Amino acid sequence: MSVALLDIINNIPPFGFGVIALSVLVVIFIGIIYWQNTRDRGSKLFFFFSLVILAWGVAAVLFDASIETPFIHTIVVIEYFIAGFIAPALFCALDAFANNDTQRSLKRYAMVYGSYLAISIGFLTHGLLVGYRDGVGGAVGALTFGWMFVPYVIYSVALVGAGLWFLVKKYRDSAGIFRQQIRDFLLVFIITATTALAGTLFSPVVTKTQEFFWVGYIGGAMMFLVATAAILIKYNFLNIRVIVAELFVATIILVLIAELFITTSFGSLISKTGITILILFAGTFFVGSVEHEIQSKEKIARLLSDLAIVSKRLKVLDRKKSEFLSIASHHLRDPLTTVKGYASMLEEGSFGQLSTPVREAVGKIFDSSGRLITMISDFMDISRIESGDMNYVFADVDLRKMVLELAVEMKQYADRASLVITTTIDEGLEGGMEFMTAGDAGKLRQVFSNLIDNSIKYTPRGEVSILLSKSPDGKKVLFSVSDTGIGMTNLTKEKIFKKFSRAEGVNKVYTEGTGLGLYVAKEIVNKHEGRIWAESKGEGMGSSFYVELEAKG
Ligand code: ADP
Repeated sequence: MSVALLDIINNIPPFGFGVIALSVLVVIFIGIIYWQNTRDRGSKLFFFFSLVILAWGVAAVLFDASIETPFIHTIVVIEYFIAGFIAPALFCALDAFANNDTQRSLKRYAMVYGSYLAISIGFLTHGLLVGYRDGVGGAVGALTFGWMFVPYVIYSVALVGAGLWFLVKKYRDSAGIFRQQIRDFLLVFIITATTALAGTLFSPVVTKTQEFFWVGYIGGAMMFLVATAAILIKYNFLNIRVIVAELFVATIILVLIAELFITTSFGSLISKTGITILILFAGTFFVGSVEHEIQSKEKIARLLSDLAIVSKRLKVLDRKKSEFLSIASHHLRDPLTTVKGYASMLEEGSFGQLSTPVREAVGKIFDSSGRLITMISDFMDISRIESGDMNYVFADVDLRKMVLELAVEMKQYADRASLVITTTIDEGLEGGMEFMTAGDAGKLRQVFSNLIDNSIKYTPRGEVSILLSKSPDGKKVLFSVSDTGIGMTNLTKEKIFKKFSRAEGVNKVYTEGTGLGLYVAKEIVNKHEGRIWAESKGEGMGSSFYVELEAKG
């Protein structure tokens, strides 16, 4: 090293060493973050950016120290040459962070750095881009800028601007905690980039000195690095535990290694080496397990957030399904009810007497529309049951009244099927017995009507008998409907209360069934704390269906 170079180093004030030490610390800090995920392209490029900042800081310190030495002319060029790498390094780091694009990157790097190398040809001629004019007669020298400094500035500002644009775009496209992170980052970026550009790039042009350089360097570039690292840690705070664990282990190992150098006896050197190696292994294991634990926690957190998204989507789907059902209810069921109503009036002669064939045809329209209404109602009930939206309005219900009304209503169906239908209310010996229960009248009516309707459907000939009675102790009301129809096997008896379940071969008797009516009936009866069941002596031997409910009063 020549004497003059040593002079420069001797010229460095304590402040200069302080700046370099600070820059090295920041680089180590960013390096630790990069170490946490070496595969992440963004943090790799960010680490490179911090190295460029460090080199730039060292060059600036040397510049200050070499004023009034012949080295100033070379160092000013070196400093500005290094400074020119800041914008492309920052641009590439932000590009990787914001755009996650790996395909175009190589081409992009070549373009970005290639353009800079083209501009930096200007450095070969002193003063063309930047230079230094020595002071004459004891006066202080000054920085000089040539015309090539213009493209140099445009290039740097344009890249910083493009980086800012990436961040704004990313901010617009992101959501949740990530959006907050980018917002914080954007704020830091705008403040520090402005300070850095003003202090280091523009102020020397005006003052011809580096008077405000350190404001730009420490207040801008350094602040940017520290704030960005802080943001990374804040939003990814679990990793700080790994960093602390690593620092802890590294400190212990460094102390132990230092101990080795001051060990005097061979015996203790061997034992201390052994301990150091042991602690090295244990420390590695410790850091690894901390890392593993954090990774699992992060995985669980990710899964939980995925789950939350899925459940949100499911809720939306569920709402859409309910909306669809209500549309189906109004647009399908209501017009059908009108069709059924008019068919009934026509059949009864409200619009004049009909000939027998026409009346029979109208009767069929009445039957089919009725069945279709029941079918649609069943489908709607199923989805209500499944979504837990089946609402019940409980009140006192007079079952005698209900059954008698139903018997009248169902008679027309039985007549049309040429079946005899009888209804018996078992009043007991004394008579005047009450058949009250607490329940949802509409829903119970639906159950009884479904059972009577089934008996009519599944009875080709014979009769259907409805019976309402009370248990001997008077605590239960029993509704039953028995028929002389197709009956059922024991196996069928077990499964017919399940969803979409029908007896084998039942299609031959009645094709349009869905296997939903009894499932809905069972759900309703269960909600009333009651019991529903079927009995039959076998196929062709008729069936009986029972509903038992709590008596009231
Ligand atoms: P669906 O009548 O639309 O098929 P249900 O749930 O009301 O649906 O009835 C399920 C099955 O139970 C019917 O398909 C039939 O096999 C059987 N079933 C119901 N009621 C009777 C009955 N009274 N006699 C014989 N089988 C019956």
